[in-house]
Amino acid sequence: MPIRFASLGSGSKGNSTVFDDGTTRLLIDLGFSLKEALARLAKLNLSPEELDGILVTHEHADHVHGVGAFARKFQTPVILTHGSYNEKQIGEVPVLKRFNCGEKFSVGTVKVQSVAVPHDAKEPCQYILGSRGFSLGILTDLGHVTPHIEVLYRDCQALLLEFNHDFKMLKSGPYSSKLKARVGGDYGHLSNIQAANLLRQLNLGRLKNLVVSHVSEKNNDLELAESTALLELSDWIGDIIVAKQDFGFDWITIEI
Ligand SMILES: [Zn+2]
Ligand SMILES: [Zn+2]
Repeated sequence: MPIRFASLGSGSKGNSTVFDDGTTRLLIDLGFSLKEALARLAKLNLSPEELDGILVTHEHADHVHGVGAFARKFQTPVILTHGSYNEKQIGEVPVLKRFNCGEKFSVGTVKVQSVAVPHDAKEPCQYILGSRGFSLGILTDLGHVTPHIEVLYRDCQALLLEFNHDFKMLKSGPYSSKLKARVGGDYGHLSNIQAANLLRQLNLGRLKNLVVSHVSEKNNDLELAESTALLELSDWIGDIIVAKQDFGFDWITIEI
């Protein structure tokens, strides 16, 4: 049975990724309203009842906005770090599982490695999802790359990597100076150059799919983000796509 993944949307207005190993189907984050989430799932031909859990990366609205309502309506388990849970935000949900950032655990047939990242949230983590020898790394919402991150993501076969902003566009863009400092700071978001530098540290012989993700609509340009990635990928054989805010990306299927 093939393994596949897709996105409902990616960017500062809402994020959500789906991972499906044929047995277990997980959402990673849900930064869209319930109505919007259902419309986007329908475009992927996925019904909400098929989902076995929602893994949350951190409590920022573009990642958790729809989590509580969705979980209550469809009895979907919510899985997140102790620090990311905020009752006022998510409310009471039928099944809540909490863990310490850095822990490894399984959800159904999917092996989950949570990874600590430097970001201005309570206990933010990102994820590496594994099944039947395949691994998908999700790495967005971090201000810089740590040596620990380089080691853990090195051998992923697929990677959703944040290319949030172009540093020059951020500097001259519309954000307030406070917000510019936050986004460009050590606990904000990765610039195109920071993300491209990480590519240099990876085992590119294993990487088959790269998804340029969490691209800022105000401080970046989709083509610029992709071309910055491609500068590091001259000898690489694989597929690169850019995740969009309005749709994310369609299923990418891996034959195992
Ligand atoms: Zn975000
Ligand atoms: Zn965030």
